Amino acid sequence: MGRIGDLLTPDIIVAHVRDVTVEMLRARRIRAVICDLDNTLVPWRSDDIAREITGWLLGLRAEGIGVCIASNTRHTSRLERLAAQMGIFHVPGNAAKPRRRGLRIALSLLGVPPSDTAMVGDQLFTDILAGNRLGLTTILVNPLTPREFIGTKIISRTAERIVLRGPRKRAL
Ligand SMILES: [Mg+2]
Repeated sequence: MGRIGDLLTPDIIVAHVRDVTVEMLRARRIRAVICDLDNTLVPWRSDDIAREITGWLLGLRAEGIGVCIASNTRHTSRLERLAAQMGIFHVPGNAAKPRRRGLRIALSLLGVPPSDTAMVGDQLFTDILAGNRLGLTTILVNPLTPREFIGTKIISRTAERIVLRGPRKRAL
């Protein structure tokens, strides 16, 4: 598919962030994770931090793997609150993915180079594109819920289906 296609291709596809295991990260020498917020860590516009997310974060912390949220949300106070509740870093304000600036801020907060970092998210045209542009290991997850911004639902998801040329990973 060429360069644009490569930039839209995740290195790894899993069903859920919990499937991003310490073993998987270690095998690729990844020491830090930049994570999307909505429909990756919490349902869209929700404040519910599921127990499995808390457990996943604890597992990473136990191994010294840092986590930083990079979100395109406009609701920055909610972003700050959720990051504090999860005990992880966040890129202040709107990370403006697929632009690289927000992820560069995340790398500096985490103190790691791109080669040692994974980007995890549910959208090809923001999360995966931004991560690939910066040379991170990119991991696509299924959206936690079908609820999302109308533009995402209609335009981005349709284009994602064309680029991915098939279904996403089924939930395990
Ligand atoms: Mg998302």
